[in-house]
Amino acid sequence: MTLKARAQEKVERAGISNYSFDHDVLVMCGVRYTIEACECGEPDCDGVRLRKNATAIGRILQ
Ligand SMILES: [Zn+2]
Repeated sequence: MTLKARAQEKVERAGISNYSFDHDVLVMCGVRYTIEACECGEPDCDGVRLRKNATAIGRILQ
């Protein structure tokens, strides 16, 4: 399964339907999240981590 598919599953499991993908970036409520693999090894870990993408916000402010 791709990271993107895992991220989609994670978001849907959280009950969020209002999201979209911009290439490999997840966009939720206007906030862009970089999708990263998580290797923490926790038993309940879904193997994906979403990191708020501050770069995009910085670009808008410039
Ligand atoms: Zn993890």
